[in-house]
Amino acid sequence: MGLLDQRFENGNVFITSVDNLLNWARLSSLWQMQFGLACCAIEMMAASASSFDIMRFGVIPRATPRQADVMFVAGTVTIKMASRIKRLYDQMSEPRYVLSMGSCANCGGPYWEHGYHVLKGVDRVIPVDVYIPGCPPRPEALLEGIIKLQEKIRRESLAKKSA
Ligand code: SF4
Repeated sequence: MGLLDQRFENGNVFITSVDNLLNWARLSSLWQMQFGLACCAIEMMAASASSFDIMRFGVIPRATPRQADVMFVAGTVTIKMASRIKRLYDQMSEPRYVLSMGSCANCGGPYWEHGYHVLKGVDRVIPVDVYIPGCPPRPEALLEGIIKLQEKIRRESLAKKSA
C-alpha cells in the first residue's frame, strides 16, 4: 500500500471514484416500473417468481413511475397505449432506463406489416437502453437484459453526462 500504509486507525478504508460508487449503487437497486402490455408480460412475471428470482439483481417492482428507475416495455405497444407509455416515462426521474422486451416492443413483432394499430417499436416514443429479442423472450433472456443494463450503468460517467 506504500504511502497509505499504517496511516489509518482502522482498516475500513477504500478508495474509489464518485462515478464508481454511484454507478454501483444504481445498478444494484434498479426499481422497476410495474406494468405489462401483452403476452411478454407473462414471461416478465415468471422472472419474478421463485425459479428465476429477479429480485436477487436488486429489481423491485414499484407501482408508481416516481419511484422507478427502469421501465420494462413487455408486450405489444398499440398506438393508443404509446402516449400512456410516454407519459409514464416522463414521470420517472433521472437517471432512468428502458428495457424493450420482445419483438413487439422492439419493432412491432408479428404486427410489423399489417398491424395498423401497433407502434413499430417503442423507441419511436421513448429511448431504449437494451433490446431483448424473442416472441416471447424467456425469463432468462430478461435476466440477461438486466445484466447488460447493469454493465452499461457501470460504464457511465457523471462528468460526461453533465458536459
Ligand atoms: S413479442 Fe410475441 S409474445 Fe411478446 S407480446 Fe408480441 S406477440 Fe406476444
